[in-house]
Amino acid sequence: MSTISEIADKYLLTTYRRSIALVKGRGRRVWDSEGREYLDFGGGVAVSSLGHAHPAMVEALHKQSQLMIHSSNLYYNEPQALLARELVESIGEGRVFFSNSGAEANEGLYKLSRLFGRERGAYEIITMVDSFHGRTMGGISATGQEKVKHGFEPLVPSFVHVPFNDIEAVKAAVTPKTVAVLIEGVQGEGGIFPAKPEYLLALRKLTKEKGLLLLLDAVQCGFYRTGRFQSYERILEGVSGGEGFRPDAIAMAKAMGGGFPMGAFWVSAEHASLFTPGSHGSTYAGSPLACAVGLAVLDTVRKEKLDENISVQGARLLEGLKKLKNQFPVIEEVRGLGGLVGLQLSVEPPDVQPFFVKEGLLLVGAANRTLRYLPPFNTTADEVDEALDKTAKALSALGKR
Ligand SMILES: *Cc1c(COP(=O)(O)O)cnc(C)c1O
Repeated sequence: MSTISEIADKYLLTTYRRSIALVKGRGRRVWDSEGREYLDFGGGVAVSSLGHAHPAMVEALHKQSQLMIHSSNLYYNEPQALLARELVESIGEGRVFFSNSGAEANEGLYKLSRLFGRERGAYEIITMVDSFHGRTMGGISATGQEKVKHGFEPLVPSFVHVPFNDIEAVKAAVTPKTVAVLIEGVQGEGGIFPAKPEYLLALRKLTKEKGLLLLLDAVQCGFYRTGRFQSYERILEGVSGGEGFRPDAIAMAKAMGGGFPMGAFWVSAEHASLFTPGSHGSTYAGSPLACAVGLAVLDTVRKEKLDENISVQGARLLEGLKKLKNQFPVIEEVRGLGGLVGLQLSVEPPDVQPFFVKEGLLLVGAANRTLRYLPPFNTTADEVDEALDKTAKALSALGKR
């Protein structure tokens, strides 16, 4: 009998380097096809916000699937209406469009920009070096990393990249063709780099002055990942002038569905009417099933105060990793905000990850030689300590190699 990996390696496109085959998950634990247990601090790449097999998600899936799984956007559906209201009430006056993924949510931002700049012939979007915006043609064009673009040229010709957290670079890049600036609140795939508070405020001021849209890709950093609903609320906490900060549009996904594929973008009331009937669409997006799950995730985060929990556990993890830095010279830097924590090493992730897998800890690689810790929001202090212990063991083994 062939193993899972043998079959997969024969029939799947070879776009991923996979390691183990996972067959089951519960809470923050997962098990592979050989029965080995792992602590999952990769969370399916920042997706499994409630961990695995959370009863609230299982119940929402079960209940809604018996009622109706899919209805299309030709009709109203209650979970979609209710989730849209939750998102708008959480962000601010505006409207929401649902998508099936993060890349697709970002496509909505690009299309909004085109509609916004049409009359004056502006269409260029300034994005950041080391950003990541997804794998669609628009997404790889927007992404400020060469490796995702390679081989796919010609790209969508309307994106300009400048260094992140550098307001002067943005100012210098603005031309009459510029229509928007797109940032991540915390660069995720780039290696966990949070936006600086003064940068956010300066960007908001600049875009207002120049009549540009400020767009936020919150696919990874949004939906309570940093401990607040949106990363800018966390970054600007207690910063004077920060209370009124709001982008013109925000893309979300990942933690939103807790593992059920879904995303959304929010557009401020001022710009929402740029989209008119027929101007955008999706067959599957915003299905009753997806939105019922999204509501269950939101409800659970609020009821169980998981926003506070991920903030506390993320800080514990960050502190613990910083302590390990003295012990292991291979650690170059530790960065983080809430449940987004990055361990920058002097070696590339593929060279160290086998050591972590061997210790039973699942993490996710990122650019700039960074390993990402993206624990579910309901992780515990004991699990954080266990992750730290496994990290120390993996780095010791790496040192002895
Ligand atoms: C993951 C990610 C995306 C792409 O999301 P998909 O669901 O894979 O399409 C886009 N932007 C950011 C910031 C991400 O982290």
